[in-house]
Amino acid sequence: METRTPVSRLSLVLLVASLPFAALAGCASERTAIGPADTAPLAGALGSVSSDEALQKLVEGNARFVGNKDNDTPRDVSRRSDLAKGQHPFAGILTCSDSRVPPELVFDQELGDLFVVRVAGNTADDVGMGSLEYAVEHLGVQLVVVMGHEKCGAVAAAVTTAKEGGELPGHLPAVVADILPVVKQGIADGGDAVHNCVWHNAANVAAKLRSQSPILSEAMEKGRLRICAAVYDLDTGMVRFLPQPPQSEKAGPAAPHGDIAHGESEHEAANDDHGHQHH
Ligand SMILES: [Zn+2]
Repeated sequence: METRTPVSRLSLVLLVASLPFAALAGCASERTAIGPADTAPLAGALGSVSSDEALQKLVEGNARFVGNKDNDTPRDVSRRSDLAKGQHPFAGILTCSDSRVPPELVFDQELGDLFVVRVAGNTADDVGMGSLEYAVEHLGVQLVVVMGHEKCGAVAAAVTTAKEGGELPGHLPAVVADILPVVKQGIADGGDAVHNCVWHNAANVAAKLRSQSPILSEAMEKGRLRICAAVYDLDTGMVRFLPQPPQSEKAGPAAPHGDIAHGESEHEAANDDHGHQHH
């Protein structure tokens, strides 16, 4: 694993810093300002991208993806050799292994931009949590997104298991185990239980990261990390973000449905800001 070196991304950071700062999608934080004292511990983090800037880049990248507009960043050899000297991803993404949800494509980002953890059902076990801790502590990532997706097979398996019982084969019980706690609420919400559970699961995993990782919670307290939950829609290509709850939230009951609807509307508004048609 690489240690941070102050190389190569400064120009990109300056470019991003010069962009007009459009209203962000959900995942609002009460603490968005990150002062020099807060960033001081990140020695050598010359290329650090703030959580606000990182979220903006993801929202804009997703808008390009939805609109089928290519990112014109060249995938050239010099960029690859620059990255060989050290990585400086601007966001950590925890998402499902599903072949239809590759974050680099969904957010229209390039080699070295995203630090990605993928596991069926986008849950956070110790290895996943440790991976994100590395991204935050050693790579200076200031935004982590837990991204579920509609029609998730792992979530559907958890719903079926909860409704019908029975044993899943092999190691599959471990895949659904961390999803099962939100299934009762997802069913109680009425309507499509899988859809509901996808949202609840993403919110619940984000809450788990906030509350069960001392490294991540300390970074949040110092104002140099934001953890968001989001859901990707397979049909539209759109990623919708949930608002970030207060810092005091502990893992437990998933976000109520009203918050979910709020998150959807906020993100759709953000897409409108980018002149984007949503479905
Ligand atoms: Zn999935």
